[in-house]
Amino acid sequence: MERIRILKDKCTGCKLCVRACPFAAITIQDRKAVIDLTKCNLCGACVEACKFSAIELKKETAAKGTDLGLYKNVWVFCEQKKGKIQSISWELLGEGRKLADKLKVKLCGILLGSNISGAAAGIIERGADEVYVVDEKELENYLDEPYTNILVELVREYRPEIFLCGATTLGRSLVSRVAVKIYTGLTADCTGLDIDKETGNLLQTRPAFGGNIMATIITPNYRPQMATVRHKVMKEAAVQKGRKGAVIAKRFDKKIYASRTRLINMVDELEQTVNLCEADIIVSGGRGLGCADNFKLIRELAISIGGAVGASRAAVDSDWIPYSHQVGQTGKTVCPKIYIACGISGQIQHLIGMQSSDVIIAINRDPDAPIFNVATYGIVGDLFQVVPLLTKRFKEVCKK
Ligand SMILES: Cc1cc2nc3c(=O)[nH]c(=O)nc-3n(C[C@H](O)[C@H](O)[C@H](O)COP(=O)(O)OP(=O)(O)OC[C@H]3O[C@@H](n4cnc5c(N)ncnc54)[C@H](O)[C@@H]3O)c2cc1C
Repeated sequence: MERIRILKDKCTGCKLCVRACPFAAITIQDRKAVIDLTKCNLCGACVEACKFSAIELKKETAAKGTDLGLYKNVWVFCEQKKGKIQSISWELLGEGRKLADKLKVKLCGILLGSNISGAAAGIIERGADEVYVVDEKELENYLDEPYTNILVELVREYRPEIFLCGATTLGRSLVSRVAVKIYTGLTADCTGLDIDKETGNLLQTRPAFGGNIMATIITPNYRPQMATVRHKVMKEAAVQKGRKGAVIAKRFDKKIYASRTRLINMVDELEQTVNLCEADIIVSGGRGLGCADNFKLIRELAISIGGAVGASRAAVDSDWIPYSHQVGQTGKTVCPKIYIACGISGQIQHLIGMQSSDVIIAINRDPDAPIFNVATYGIVGDLFQVVPLLTKRFKEVCKK
C-alpha cells in the first residue's frame, strides 16, 4: 500500500509543502505539517518541495519480474445501463473468446449492478465460461469509487492475465482507476487485439499520432494486461442458446461501496433522433453548414430516413451541436450501414471515427475534399441545395 507521512522531528512548519500541494491537502497545525489523506492523491509534489526531507512517501510498485504465470484467463467488463447489457460488451466477448481460445484459457465476464444476476446467462450465451457477479443495491448507478474498489478486489483475488473494457465514457473512467491501483499498464482505445504467438503477450493496436500510424503496444512485465476497446470496431459475439457456464456471485463488506461522490440525478439527453453509436444510418454536419441554425437541415434529413445526427469537431467546437454528437478520434467511433457527411472536409481525425461505415455518401462543394477518397458515393455540390432535395425525396419514398 502507498503511504505518506510527515517526519515531525524534521518538519519546521515552513509551509513550502502547503504551497506545493495541488490538492490543498496540507495544513500547518502547531507548527507542523498535517496531511489530509482524504484529499491527498500521493502525487509527491510536497516531497519535492520540502527542503528538510520531512515528508516520506512510500509507493508500492509491482516488482518487475512479477510471477506472470500466476495470472490466467481473459476478463471482459460487461457494461450495463439500467440492467441492460450494452452492446460493446458483446463485441468484447466476441474478441475475448478468440484471445482466450488462442491462450487456451477461460473467458470470464464481470458484471456489476443491482438486480442484475439474471443477465449473467446472456453473457454465457455470448461465449463466457464464467461470470463474476456483484449484485448490490449500492451498485444500481455507476460511481467511480465503489466500482473501482470492487474490480481491484476481484483482480487481486483471481488474477486475470487480460482485462478488457469498452472505451466508453464509463469504461474509460473506470479501468484507468483500476490500472493505477493495481500498478499495471492500460492501452486505451484499441482497435485491434491479438496474442503474440511466441510470448503469449497481448498485442494491443491503436491509432497513434493523429491516426497516421497504428501502434502495437505490449505490457510484458505487468499483469493484467488492460485495454479499452473502441465501440463498433469488433464484431459482436453470436448468441449460442443454451450454452452453459458458471456464475460466481461475490459479496463484499459494505465499506467497499463508500464513495466521496454522490449521484444527485440522471438526466437523459433529449434526442430527437436515435442513439449515435447504435444507429444504422447517420447524417453528419460539418463547418460547411455555416451556423448552428443550419443543423436543422441535417436533423430533417436524419429524421426522414430514421437516422441519427453526427457532427465534425469543427461543428462541435463552434457550439453548433453538443459534443455527444462528435464523430472521430476524440469523439465517437461509429460503424453504420450508411454515413452521410455534409460539408465535412474529411480530415484524418474525422475519418478514424467513421471510415468503416458500410456506405459513405459525401456532399461537398470542393471536388478535391479528402472525404471523397473514402466515399462510396460523392455529390459535388452546395449542401444547401442537395440536402433539402434528398430530404424531400426520402420523405416521399419512405412514406410509401
Ligand atoms: C488531436 C485532434 C483530434 C481531433 N479529433 C477530431 C474528431 O474527433 N472529429 C473531427 O471531426 N475532427 C477532429 N479533429 C479536427 C479535424 O482535424 C478537423 O479540423 C475537423 O474534422 C474539420 O471539420 P470539418 O470537416 O467540419 O471542417 P472543415 O475542415 O473546415 O471543412 C468544411 C468543409 O465543408 C465544405 N463546404 C463548405 N461550404 C459548403 C457548402 N455550402 N456545401 C458543401 N460543402 C461545403 C468545404 O469545402 C470543406 O471541405 C481533431 C483534431 C486534432 C488535432
